[in-house]
Order: sequence, then structure tokens, then C-alpha cells
Amino acid sequence: MGLTGLAIFKQLPKKNCKECGVATCMAFAMALAAGKASLDACPYVTDEAKEALDSASAPPIKTVKVGVGEKEVVLGDETVMFRHDKTFYHPTGMGFVVADNDPELDAKIDAIADLQFDRVGQHYEIEFVTVENASGDAATFAAAAEKAAAKKAVILNGEVAALEAALEKIAAEKPLLNAATADNYEAVTELAKKFEVPMVVKADGLEALEDLVNKVVALGYKELVLDPGSRQTAQVIADMTQIRRLAIKKTFRPFGYPTIAFTTEENAMDEAMQAVAYVAKYASIVVMKNAVKGLVLPILSWRQNLYTDPQKPVAVQAKLMEVGAVTADSPVYVTTNFSLSYYSVEGEVEASRIPSYIIPIETDGTSVLTAWAAGKFGGEHLAAAIKEYDLDNKLNHKNIIIPGYVAVIAAKLKDESGWNVIVGPKEASGISGFAKENFA
Ligand code: SF4
Repeated sequence: MGLTGLAIFKQLPKKNCKECGVATCMAFAMALAAGKASLDACPYVTDEAKEALDSASAPPIKTVKVGVGEKEVVLGDETVMFRHDKTFYHPTGMGFVVADNDPELDAKIDAIADLQFDRVGQHYEIEFVTVENASGDAATFAAAAEKAAAKKAVILNGEVAALEAALEKIAAEKPLLNAATADNYEAVTELAKKFEVPMVVKADGLEALEDLVNKVVALGYKELVLDPGSRQTAQVIADMTQIRRLAIKKTFRPFGYPTIAFTTEENAMDEAMQAVAYVAKYASIVVMKNAVKGLVLPILSWRQNLYTDPQKPVAVQAKLMEVGAVTADSPVYVTTNFSLSYYSVEGEVEASRIPSYIIPIETDGTSVLTAWAAGKFGGEHLAAAIKEYDLDNKLNHKNIIIPGYVAVIAAKLKDESGWNVIVGPKEASGISGFAKENFA
């Protein structure tokens, strides 16, 4: 449980020196209790007091990092149960399993690394390769881990000897060890400490997990990722939700770590559904088996939607955009600067193969109908854009295409700009056909 301001105050030096940025130690204690200050701001706190105050100053879910450099994956440090309460910060790391003795190991690692997509102006890719010690041989495992680490952050699935052999090769890549259990936790914790890498703590059920986490923490290690051992979808969701709830609502320290979930469905579509559920509730890492490209994109799109700050819609810059080799005769489309709207239009314009201009109007990243309803996408706004981009002088024509859903603004736009207004399709999906029909 978090400490009260008074309990924190008792641990502070009581110098009232103001070096922490507030007037008194009591004010600093109250700010700490409210989560509005960091204990580091006071240079005089003793190590004993720091340890005692850990529960008040640490985030409810610890930040754990796997991998290094461009392959680093940041997990945890979430503060809310529901995205609309604030936002989710660190997207679920997605990974696929490869067996260390798979004859097609290199090709499979390459295929996982190639799972990259560009959608609505964002780049998506898979973060992890999970190497399974299927061979039972430590040297084979270490060699496979080395290959995987060249491409992605790595999760090492194996027994202690195999983990150690792999760490001798790739410890600098900061892999995640999977897993410390009731039987081997002392040895795995020693390895994790020695090589300074994070580790999964796995137990069957939440009570056993709490017990095991406490034992590992007592050994002096906290770079942990939690696996409650469940593999049935409903139970995984229940466990992940309970862990998140206890960590955030109760500041329950044994569960204040990122989590990992493993899919079990054999059918690729069923597995994708499982993964989507785990991304939503509340796995920090999801490890899958079937790397089917057509199913990975929707999972990553779902993740991207979930981890977008709901208070800041993803927007593109509001400026005159050119698609293809435009000329003074090219058509002009208009939409909003909401990323999804803009890139949907851009994709369809590209598909039409008719070079065109697109004007994304500044609407604070809202979609066409929302912006129109909010008074941000009216005839006057579009007329102002025509003027701003000097289209009267730039183009040989005065035709502008507006989205079909806002046909109602056509008259005002014509009055304000003097341009001929063409009402285009309601949905972006109709643009390609519309363009070919009218401008090819
Ligand atoms: Fe008190 Fe430390 Fe702040 Fe000084 S820096 S006022 S000792 S809390």
C-alpha cells in the first residue's frame, strides 16, 4: 500500500532546505504521497529511508527493459486500468517462438524480422524472437540465440545450463530469461544478477506467484516479468486483470511488474484472437507460435489503436500534399488531418494512379464528420486553405473534391472561394473508382 504524507515525512531529513523545489519537507512528503514528486529530488535522504519509502515513490508497475539500442523494448510503467482514464504508455511487445534445432531456423528468424508494416503513417514491427531449447543441447541453444539476437530482442526459453550458455554469448543484448520457477529460482536469479538481464518469474496461480516473487526479491533482484502460469484464454485474462488491478489500485508490490502471456491455440486465426485478447488485457509481452503475416497486421493495428493517447489523436501536418507527379491540371481532394482519414484518402488516390493534390485541413486530428459537427470543417475553412496554398495561381482549374458526407458545405465553399465544388464519395474506398471515372 502507498504511504501517507505523514509516514513519508517521518523518513525525511527535516532540513527544510528547499533544495527539492518545495518550501518544506512536509510539502515534499505530501507531493510524494500524491505521486507528484520523485524521491531523487531530495539529496539528503538516507539509503535506509529510500528503502522504506520505496512503495511511496516507485511507480505501481516497474519499468523493465529487454534488448538494447534499437531493439530495446520498454515494458511496464502503466498507471491506469482503462485507456480512457489517461493513456497506456508501453505497447505490448509481440514475439514468435522458434526452436533452436529447427532446420529452417535462419529463414524463420528472417521471416519474423520481416514482419514490418507501414500503416496510417506509423511503422509496426515484431519486437521479440523467443528461442526455445527444443534440442536440449546448450551449445545449439546458444548458437540459435546468437542468430536471433542479431535481428530482434530475445526471450530465452530453457533450463539453467542452456540459459547460461546463451548468456555467455548474448548477455550484452539483454535477453529476457524464461523462467525462474519454484524449483530453479535461486539459480536463475543468480544468473540474471550476474549477467544483469531481466527474468520471468513463473508460478501456477497468483498465490504461488506472489510467494515466488517475494523469494526472488528477497534475493535482491527486481528486474522481473510475471507469468501466472495460466494458458487457457479466460484464465489468462482473469489473472492478467487481477495482477494489473492489484498493482495499480492497491500498489501491491509483488505484482508491480510487467507480465507475459503465451498463446496456445493451434489454429492461426484462433491464436490471433487469443493474442488480441491478451494485448487488451493486459499482457506486457505476448508470445505466439504462428507467424502468419496476414494475421499479424490486424494484431499490431489493434495494439496501435490501444496505445494511442486518446487525448491526442494521431494527426498529419496540415499542408498541401502531393501524391505522384502532380501538374497544374491535377485534381484536388480535401479531407481532415486525422491520420486515419488522411492515409485512407492517400492510399486510394495512389491506387487510382492519377497524380493528385490532397489538402488535410487542420481539425485537431478529428475525422471528417466529427470535425464538421465541431465547426472545424466548413466551407470557410476549405476556402481559407485554397487561399493559403495559392491554388488560384498554382492550378489551371478551379475544381475541388469534398468528402460525400459533408456535401452540405458545398454551397458555402463555392460562395467563399468561387471554386466549383465536386462532391466525392462518402468513403475513401470509393475514391479510386471515382478518380478513374472522372479524371483518367
Ligand atoms: Fe526537506 Fe530534502 Fe526537500 Fe530539503 S531537499 S526540504 S531536506 S525534503
